[in-house]
Amino acid sequence: MFKKILIANRGEVALRVLRACKDLGISTVAVHSTVDAEAMHVRLADESVCIGPAPAAKSYLNPQAILSAATITGAEAIHPGFGFLSENASFAQMVADHGLCFIGPSAHHIAMMGDKITAKRTAVSLGLSPVPGSEGGIKDPATACALARSLGYPVLIKASGGGGGRGMQAISQESEMESGYNAARSEAQLSFGNPEVYIEKYLACPRHIEIQVIADQQGQVVTLGERDCSLQRRHQKVWEEAPSPVLEETVREALCQQVRSAVAALGYQGLGTLEFLYQDGRFYFIEMNTRLQVEHPITEFVTGTDLVCAQICVAAGEPLAFAQKDILLQGHAIECRINAESPIDFLPSPGTVTSYHAPGGPGIRVDSALYDGAIISPHYDSLAAKLIAYGRTRTECLSRLDRALSEYVIDGVQTLLLFHRALVQNPQIQAGNYNIRFLEEHAETLRAAVQNLKASETA
Ligand code: ADP
Repeated sequence: MFKKILIANRGEVALRVLRACKDLGISTVAVHSTVDAEAMHVRLADESVCIGPAPAAKSYLNPQAILSAATITGAEAIHPGFGFLSENASFAQMVADHGLCFIGPSAHHIAMMGDKITAKRTAVSLGLSPVPGSEGGIKDPATACALARSLGYPVLIKASGGGGGRGMQAISQESEMESGYNAARSEAQLSFGNPEVYIEKYLACPRHIEIQVIADQQGQVVTLGERDCSLQRRHQKVWEEAPSPVLEETVREALCQQVRSAVAALGYQGLGTLEFLYQDGRFYFIEMNTRLQVEHPITEFVTGTDLVCAQICVAAGEPLAFAQKDILLQGHAIECRINAESPIDFLPSPGTVTSYHAPGGPGIRVDSALYDGAIISPHYDSLAAKLIAYGRTRTECLSRLDRALSEYVIDGVQTLLLFHRALVQNPQIQAGNYNIRFLEEHAETLRAAVQNLKASETA
């Protein structure tokens, strides 16, 4: 096992990794930018190194600075968390070339899945069905039109190098194709440094279902059930639950079996998530994330595992401590992403937290790096906290979640707390009756519910 790990991240995920290291008896090195000198992950780590100024490109995204920090502190391994360099194949390769362990899969597998066209081709070769669409990149609008005609409108133009819900353009008719195609390419170039785009059928009302998997270096592959991440804003997850309110056991098992075979055939090692859209009883592969996911705690709740500890152990060459037969899904878990954003118009709300009180009690977990006086910097992602509730049944989980949301105090900045309260109290959400369009289609109702909650809070 490693003696010392450098955590190349910040915020709640840096804390999450740090806690796993403590549980495993591993020393930790935090890295931070100048604005994060007082941050919680720095305070709780055994050592810390300042790696640059506030802009992420000069600190958390600077491979040389991170590798130097690892060298001077004698860390043997680097945990990238999620975001930042976690899916950067050349960083993973640099870490390996420096004789250190990158806690994640090989650079080869990261590169393969980081390019969505290659990922879809690979998925096909492994027997998974992707969303119908182009086989490779689309060269020009005329080719896009020809393909869209055969698929039927609407279609989605997606960036091959895309991520984070960005770089997608929905096209509902042929007259929109030329401008949509050009806009998608320039956005792809600007955001991901790669203009290549491809086309998929735009599914009308799917659910987003993803399967958590982990593989060790001895060839054992274990799936840990699914997460339903259909509640999204602008293709970004807001609320996730496990298990999905709609999957039958036999359907889940068939999909998990397919995923295990695919991951084993790939020779993949480490944690991974295969994402699918689920509509009319069929699963369509969309992508594989080769890292820890933001929403991993709900899987930890329903499987009774510690995914970060397991991830570190398999990276150190240890065999998985659990077999497939040990993974029994029990109870229900929901995660709310509490972003520092207005619950009305979703504009970011950076600033200083003037008062902080986290909820507790049975079945509640809070993953957050916030505290009284914490600064939410405009330089980074707006995810400020994750509130995770667990119950023996979905009903118990929802009621604990409602209770915890009403206890949670984060003053000084705006957050999505009230938005999540509106969600947990919504009858359709309570019935588990939603798909990826729900938040967009019910935006008005939810805005009114937030305004009511706001008014009753100030009354
Ligand atoms: P990213 O890597 O940017 O997160 P994904 O391919 O994982 O992109 O898709 C993110 C979300 O976008 C999905 O969960 C879904 O809501 C939506 N989406 C992606 N592809 C399609 C599609 N073909 N039809 C409908 N919605 C889609």
